[in-house]
Amino acid sequence: MNGSVIKLDLNELTLRGGESYEHTFPLEMAPIVVGGESYHVLVPNGVTVSVDRVAGGFLVGISLVACLYGACERCLREAALEVEAKQQEFVPTRRDGWDESDLSPFIDDMVVDVGALAREATMLSLPNRIVCSPECRGLCQTCGHDLNMGPCDCPGEPLDERWSALEDVRFEE
Ligand SMILES: [Zn+2]
Ligand SMILES: [Zn+2]
Repeated sequence: MNGSVIKLDLNELTLRGGESYEHTFPLEMAPIVVGGESYHVLVPNGVTVSVDRVAGGFLVGISLVACLYGACERCLREAALEVEAKQQEFVPTRRDGWDESDLSPFIDDMVVDVGALAREATMLSLPNRIVCSPECRGLCQTCGHDLNMGPCDCPGEPLDERWSALEDVRFEE
């Protein structure tokens, strides 16, 4: 599935100073890959774009709520996550005097790539780890048992190599 292509031409809005525009577009977003896992993304309420005509250019804002579905990083069961994403970009009407790196890569010649901007904002809003719940106990490192279902039969804490070397010394004595 590819994401929606939504292009918004700021010049076509014919906004005068102090005027603004707001519109909500339905949005489909291609899956997002985090830590090698692919997450399916739904944006049930679409993406809301606002444009304000300000001195020297436009302020373009987007906001959306994205629902991600995929494997929990710890236990691999299905995790569902809701993120709120917002981003705002200033688009100068005259590009001279602006460094290319100060300008949004998602706005080319006054045309806003709404789908790409929404995707970027969503990526930036993701937590570092996607888990089924903050209390998820994950899988046993030794046998792979899902520790959310109860403890496994593995003995004690998983041993760190440095400590097992010390244990060997103790047994010899
Ligand atoms: Zn989990
Ligand atoms: Zn185990």
